[in-house]
Order: sequence, then C-alpha cells, then structure tokens
Amino acid sequence: MVEKKFPKTLENNKYPIVYSEFYNIRFLGLEKFHNFNAKKWKKTFERLKELISIDEDETFEPNPVHKQELSLVHTKDYLKSLKRSWNVAKILEAPFLSFLPNIIVRRYYLRPMRYQTQGTIMACELALKRGWAINLGGGFHHCSANQGGGFCLYADISIAIRHLFNSFPQVVKKVMIVDVDAHQGNGYQLDFFGHPCVYIMDVYNQHIYPLDFNARKAIHCKVEVNFFIKDQDYLPRLRKGLETSLREFQPDILIYNAGTDVLEGDCLGMLYLSPSAVVLRDEFVFRKAMEKHIPIVMLTGGGYTKNSVNATADSIANLIRLGIIERT
Ligand SMILES: [Zn+2]
Repeated sequence: MVEKKFPKTLENNKYPIVYSEFYNIRFLGLEKFHNFNAKKWKKTFERLKELISIDEDETFEPNPVHKQELSLVHTKDYLKSLKRSWNVAKILEAPFLSFLPNIIVRRYYLRPMRYQTQGTIMACELALKRGWAINLGGGFHHCSANQGGGFCLYADISIAIRHLFNSFPQVVKKVMIVDVDAHQGNGYQLDFFGHPCVYIMDVYNQHIYPLDFNARKAIHCKVEVNFFIKDQDYLPRLRKGLETSLREFQPDILIYNAGTDVLEGDCLGMLYLSPSAVVLRDEFVFRKAMEKHIPIVMLTGGGYTKNSVNATADSIANLIRLGIIERT
C-alpha cells in the first residue's frame, strides 16, 4: 500500500485545533427537551476565543465524514438503521425525534455528528504532523461497529484508528486510547477487543451506564472508581494508571477522550471532581505524551453542563499558557 501524503492544507501557522460551526445541533428549539447541551461545542470555542485570542481562521474546519470512512468500521445494517428516526431517537435518548421525518433527523442531528467524526480523523492526522491536536467535539465512545448508544451515533474513535492504520501504515502501527470520560468506553472496546495493536486505558465510574461487563474485558489498564470520588483520590489513581500503561505499551499515537462529566454536579457522571482537577488531569496526560514524544489527540467527550464547557476551554488555555502545547 502507498503511504498517504499529508494534505497541503495543513498549514503550520494555525493551531491544530479542529472545530466547525456545524458541530452544533439546532432545530426549532426541540433540542432543549433533552439534557444534552446541543451547543456545548460552540460555547467551548467561544470561551476559548476569549481566553487565548484565537479566531476561526486560526483553527481547522472539517467537512462531514464520508460514507467510505464510516464503512471502515460500521456495518451496512447499522448505517441503514440510522434511516429510522425511532432508532436515532433511542440512541440519542431523545424520544421526540421518533416523530420527525428521517430527512429532518439526518440533516439536523446526524449531520453535526458527521462533522465531529471527521473532526476526530482530521485531528489524528494533524497530531501526526504537529505532535498534538484537539478536536473540540467527538469522543463518541459508546458507539461500536453495529450499535449506537448513550448519545453516540458514530464510532469516531474506532473510525479514526482504522483510518490511521489504513492510510499511515508505516507511521502508525500501535495506538493507545486513554479514556477519562466518567463512563466506560464500551464502543471502541468492543471494536478492538483483543486487538494486539490497540491498548486501552479507561478510568470510569464502575456503577453507571453502560455497565458493559463483556467490553470491560478488552481494557488493558482499568481504573474503576466509585460514586463521588474526589480530586485527592482520583488524580493519584489516574497518574499511576497512565504510568503503568506507558510502561507496558509504546504507542505511535495516543487518543485522549477528555470527558468533563467527571465534574461535581454532573448528574450523568456522578463523580465529584473540581474544575482545577480537570485542568491538572489534562496537564498530566499531555505532559506524559510530550515527554515521550507521542503525538496526542484530545477529544472533548461527555459533559454537558456550563461547568463542563468552561472546564474544557480553561484546560486547553492552561496547556497553551504553560507552553505544553504550542501553535507551531
Ligand atoms: Zn460520559
């Protein structure tokens, strides 16, 4: 196979931060009937703009993911199942969608997720070139090849990994996933169950959704935490887990699902971390990857409260301020 060349459009004077206005969901205000914050990505970008004086033209904008890329992972039957509004409603846990024509559901709900999925692929390519990249969306870790769930319609992490293996076979032979979203990432765990070249570290509340005990067997470094864990108990366990993982496996790229549903007050994650713990958590993971010269890709994962939005933006700004990540 011929090694893919990096596109010329990956200009060096931009931050390797990927975002599009089309990530956000808007349709007649119906999205308000759901605890999913449909504009969290826009809010995150707006706060980031304030914090580090960054503009849209200094970041990278993806197109929607192509069907060919989706088919690297998803079965035909699964992609067909998204043509039924009730099925999408079930995955997004938004019953009102069942009553909408599928053309509307596709345009206003599936399309933003297709942009975010391509955002993850784009961020992976950028990280190979620049050492780091952040997709201000993505992290749909409950979706696998043939099943969606927990707000996740496309398996962006699995798709991006397959894309890297196919398009950069000489550069990417081994991938590590570090998932610190409050929920277990059962989607990619099922997709890469027993795969020798994909190492999985997952830190999650063991008592909440998805409780996928079969998928848990795919995790190499499991850090299971209990309800309402606090900063001082959480951070040492995360650090120990990452150090063990990087001793056991030397990846060519690290995909970091940095969900902020770990924050105190998040009714889905049910943990008790402070915003400064999120900043320290991300700082630690980025420092470790940089120290070992491993390209790192951050995805924003779950967390839909105002605190989550702020924590993500504050954390990225902190990494830039400390010089852990740089524009060039
Ligand atoms: Zn989550």
